[in-house]
Amino acid sequence: MTTTLPAYDEVVARYEPVIGLETHVELGTNTKMFCGCPTDFGGAPNTRVCPVCLGLPGSLPVANRVAVEATIRIGLALNCSIAEWCRFARKNYYYPDMPKNYQISQYDEPLCVDGYLDVEVDGEPVRISIERVHMEEDTGKTLHVGGATGRIHGATESLVDYNRAGIPLVEIVTKPIPGAGAMAPEVARAYVTELRDVLRSLGVSDVRMEEGSLRCDVNTSLNLPGEQWGTRTETKNVNSLRSVERAVRSEMIRQASVLEGGGRITQETRHFHEDTGDTTSGRSKETATDYRYFPEPDLVPVAPDPTWVAELKAALPELPRLHRRRLQQEWGLSDLDMQSILNAGAVELIEATIAAGATPTAARKWWLGELSRRANEAGVELADIGATPEQVAELQGLVDAGKLTDKLARTVLEHVVAGEGSPAKIMADRNLEVVSDTGALTAAVDEAIAANPAIADKVRGGKVAAAGALVGAVMKTTRGQADAKTVRELILERLGVQG
Ligand SMILES: [Zn+2]
Repeated sequence: MTTTLPAYDEVVARYEPVIGLETHVELGTNTKMFCGCPTDFGGAPNTRVCPVCLGLPGSLPVANRVAVEATIRIGLALNCSIAEWCRFARKNYYYPDMPKNYQISQYDEPLCVDGYLDVEVDGEPVRISIERVHMEEDTGKTLHVGGATGRIHGATESLVDYNRAGIPLVEIVTKPIPGAGAMAPEVARAYVTELRDVLRSLGVSDVRMEEGSLRCDVNTSLNLPGEQWGTRTETKNVNSLRSVERAVRSEMIRQASVLEGGGRITQETRHFHEDTGDTTSGRSKETATDYRYFPEPDLVPVAPDPTWVAELKAALPELPRLHRRRLQQEWGLSDLDMQSILNAGAVELIEATIAAGATPTAARKWWLGELSRRANEAGVELADIGATPEQVAELQGLVDAGKLTDKLARTVLEHVVAGEGSPAKIMADRNLEVVSDTGALTAAVDEAIAANPAIADKVRGGKVAAAGALVGAVMKTTRGQADAKTVRELILERLGVQG
């Protein structure tokens, strides 16, 4: 490909994007959606299966009440109406990792409809309309072996593991989101971030994107101002928050490039590539009619008692937006400060660091400073940087106790991020503790004074600022392991000068 892609600024100057997001959430229930098989991750292949989730003839599914309850709670948290009566539907298609040759899902009668989620983008509120929240079951997993890439291309054999088949999934679908303009990638990311936080606060899923328990498909189209919405593509299984943003951006640029060249956008699914940040064509997209949906005859309708729904609504936890507002007050932060914490994805990390004993100021300093910088450099989410809130709190404790200077603490943190263990252990292993032995420090100070008599005379003569050079000399002999303030005081004391 040698085509030169247009710059993002040119794309948004000419076209208006419309985005939409479909998010699949694996619920954290103990058992599967329609049978009693366990759902925990990591069992030997095909050991967590039974006649129901293998789709054997004569087996009958029964809906998991905990999963229905979790879906209703998600719907309520997203301000949806909860259907008083709805049904499951069969979505018919053939795929080797789907043993029944149909997936039990919901079609025209979803459990939750017409909600919204308020998110903030650059400090501005944006309301994302939710079309539906429905229940379905996950498929198994196919493993292609023998090829270089793990993809089917070049593989010599394919293995199927049905352990995941039948795990409860909730699909959350937004209405199309027009009008975001140049901010469309940020809006997409803000929505998935907020949704993840809501789901986590409900305790319905572990929402780990990298492990696939939260999976996002991103719809993108472009149109000229005043014209009809364009043909959309669906970028599948984007598995990090950062990738959501990148996927929208790169797809907008690609589509603009096609349109500028006089081409047409094909309705299709596309794959996002983490390494290059672009998308490639998948399969042409089926329309709903291709799936021959019909009501699932083996399951009774779901008719949640309105009293039960009202109880679930009353028992919802404090949702993230309100929670953040409360934290902002407790931490005494401005809107701008809180926004920078939010942008960095650091709210929970800072909260946990404070819970582990750090002050709000110290917790914020480490996560937004040194750790954010490292996360940016490494291109990873802050939460995946490799330091835990407990370790950060411990590190600050060592600084407060005078065992580490700020500079030494940064060095220790570097080794924490590298996975070398707790700050105290690293400090001991690498001999990074502050030189607080006054005897050793005094010796170093005297040495520096003796080696720099001219400077020492200046200081004695009242030029206190000249002491900086002596401090530097002491820091050098102690390999930066002395506290500069203490060293300075000691120098002035030895030279008989008042600081
Ligand atoms: Zn089963």
